[in-house]
Amino acid sequence: MNNRIITTYGQDIWKMTIDVLRKAALEKMIPKSALIGIKPNLVVSKPSSSGATTSPVIVSALIEYLKEHGHDNIVILESSWVGDSTKRAFKICGYEDISKKYNVPLFDIKQDTYTVKTYNGVNMEVSSKVLSLDFLINVPVLKGHCQTLMTGALKNMKGCISDRDKRKFHTWGLHKPIAYLNKIIKQDFILVDGICGDLDFEEGGNPVQMNRIFCGTDPVLMDSYIAANMGYKPYDIDYIRIAEEIGIGSSDIEFADIIVLDKDESIARPSPSRKVQKLSQYVNAKDACSACYANLIHALARLDGDGSLHKFKNDQILIGQGYKSQEGSGIGIGKCTSGICKNIGGCPPSTTAILDFLKKI
Ligand code: SF4
Repeated sequence: MNNRIITTYGQDIWKMTIDVLRKAALEKMIPKSALIGIKPNLVVSKPSSSGATTSPVIVSALIEYLKEHGHDNIVILESSWVGDSTKRAFKICGYEDISKKYNVPLFDIKQDTYTVKTYNGVNMEVSSKVLSLDFLINVPVLKGHCQTLMTGALKNMKGCISDRDKRKFHTWGLHKPIAYLNKIIKQDFILVDGICGDLDFEEGGNPVQMNRIFCGTDPVLMDSYIAANMGYKPYDIDYIRIAEEIGIGSSDIEFADIIVLDKDESIARPSPSRKVQKLSQYVNAKDACSACYANLIHALARLDGDGSLHKFKNDQILIGQGYKSQEGSGIGIGKCTSGICKNIGGCPPSTTAILDFLKKI
């Protein structure tokens, strides 16, 4: 399924996870009796509602799915960022409970031994346990990052190296070592938690309710799709470009086979966080679907980033099912606002489409 991305929207996290795994037929990709590693993103000891960490519901559903299909040699591995304890993150994020319920061990990579691996003259201390896996399932969070703009599949592998090398990655500028690391660690399957990742910070605090989960096998393609979900072009993120150049995968989402299983019709409840509220002041929402609203918030964040948000007035941008039969002036987002004189269609319109439309106004 190299160029395929299977995606679904909604609120029932368990069902959404099972739906995308079933459609991908994950069980058929895994060799019999394989040692399977699940790598969530538990960068800090904060629950997934903060926008920083992988939902334990997604990982629980994944484990049940694997066990139901006869794959029960599973380990959950992580190393939180240098300033936090992985053990505390396992506890706070709900992974101790998962471990007990499913009898799946938790492995703290900070306590591991490391094997020095080299790519293109760069040495990296990589977790020996990760290198011993037969099949690696990466479960990153779709979220922003203060230095690399976003984080997803490729960058989540940084939790598979020693703390000493995590520090070095920062002095090396992050992008090149992240791409190089993915030449050493091959991730076999990627299941992206796009339920409520942070707007622009890897440690959470400004979650955006995006209500989506998607999966695939090409980490470069998955990250390019994450970038598009946030209103970036793939090459806005340097490590995506480098990873593609060294042959890890393709950033060509135009030619990706994107299969959408379900839509999300839950009504958006914007996060009370300061940054999301600041962007929301430009929006007049009436019964907007969560996925639609989230795409708009990410588009507004990109406009804010390039200094062009000020040209819009408070409440000027209209979105939601409450505008279905309304005509008039304003700026309408999504097919529900087709009666508004300036309008972008789609249901939901993508972040990229909204951004391109707003830039032209
Ligand atoms: S266009 Fe309307 S129905 Fe479609 S996702 Fe947006 S708010 Fe929901």
